[in-house]
Amino acid sequence: MKLNELTITEARSKLDAGEITSEQLAKSCLDEIENLNPSLNAYLEVYAADAMAAARLADERMSRGERLGVLDGIPLALKDNMLDQDRHITSGSKILEKHVAAYDGTAVRKLKEQGAVILGRTNMDEFAMGSSTEFSAYGPTKNPRDLERVPGGSSGGSAAAVAANLCLGAFGSDTGGSIRQPAALCGCVGLKPTYGRVSRYGLMAMASSLDQIGPFAKSVEDAALMLQAIQGADPQDQTTSEEKPFAPAWRENLSDVRIGLPRQAWGQGMHPEIKASVMQAIKQMEQLGAQVKDVDLPYADEALAAYYVIMPCEVSANLARFDGMRYGLREKGLALFETYARTRAHGFGSEARRRILLGTYALSRGYYDAYYLQAKRVQTLIKRAYEAAFRDVDVLITPTAPNPAFRLGEKTTDPLTMYLEDVFTVGANVSGLPAISVPCGLVENLPVGMHMIGPAFGEADLLAAARVYEESKP
Ligand code: GLN
Repeated sequence: MKLNELTITEARSKLDAGEITSEQLAKSCLDEIENLNPSLNAYLEVYAADAMAAARLADERMSRGERLGVLDGIPLALKDNMLDQDRHITSGSKILEKHVAAYDGTAVRKLKEQGAVILGRTNMDEFAMGSSTEFSAYGPTKNPRDLERVPGGSSGGSAAAVAANLCLGAFGSDTGGSIRQPAALCGCVGLKPTYGRVSRYGLMAMASSLDQIGPFAKSVEDAALMLQAIQGADPQDQTTSEEKPFAPAWRENLSDVRIGLPRQAWGQGMHPEIKASVMQAIKQMEQLGAQVKDVDLPYADEALAAYYVIMPCEVSANLARFDGMRYGLREKGLALFETYARTRAHGFGSEARRRILLGTYALSRGYYDAYYLQAKRVQTLIKRAYEAAFRDVDVLITPTAPNPAFRLGEKTTDPLTMYLEDVFTVGANVSGLPAISVPCGLVENLPVGMHMIGPAFGEADLLAAARVYEESKP
């Protein structure tokens, strides 16, 4: 087996046993990147020399019997919207092509403090808006399973990098599904933590009330390690929670686990074989001891509509800072306003412009009540519906995405069909809940993800259930 194919857990025990070195690990990832990245475009930039230097330092520590953390010496990748001091970080946008990060985001700082080896930054839809990475200003990422298909998005680069073993694990951000959907389409594990579990300081904001950083991993156990490395309250992000940190609580089987299948989600609108594949996984969980029942989850459909109002409103506010004055691209006009307009017209891609326009419109006087306020009210109803459902069950399950990986270009001309990709994932963002996508089979030789949602700060139980299923797979 090639070293880049190891899970983090496997690599950790081999490193600790002195069977391999961090340098060898990093080198095997970098070799694979050289082989595959030209066709995949998963990484936008690779820090080969710095990664090797960081790996050497980790090896030196290890030879002295020191270890900074579980991720010490482990090669990982970061999405291109996570600030990493002195590096170009662009959020997949032309407007930030020359932008250099002035500081480390909290998650990145924690990873560095724990000795993680950062291999590079991964491709994404511009400002994390999209479900295919086709809206990146730097060309799409390809699905490692089939180069004619998308890897999902917006964190498609991170998903493809993990699935193709171009790193041991990667981080992404999830505002409406951007970790879980690409994980499903590429065939890896993707976890969106509870809102407030992980600091957003130094994450380029898309929709601040929904954004959350989380891991892409080759196993549920690895995802747990990665979450532990970055979680925690942070004075730099007042939306982080003082809640007890997540610690894994693994279990042997699923006895006394109650699984709910939301009636409103399991209807029409999904590929029949996706439905069959996830149902099969649920049957298996039943055999492992779980009790499965149908539950009501009112407003499941409305979640998508509420998301596509709330999100662009926040996007329009967050992206206002890219005005050609403070960051990145500046296209000079005769007067100030013209400079703003030119910079933004040329710097943002079509999808970013579409959402800024929609959000600005929805927040404008006379429309605010009808759109934003109404969507926030619906959000409250959705939150209550989840709370009610979790009085009866421990986990809610749906497919992660309604379809397997689609072809490049298939959905770029019709934004609505692209938005419909998020139908199962946005609910967890709108309600702030933790959710994970776990690979559960293949349809037409393309990966399928099972989507499991838990109650707020219930990651320990959620991941334990996911892992029992994962380990039971043939
Ligand atoms: N696909 C969704 C969107 O386009 C989700 C994006 C995300 O989670 N960053 O908004």
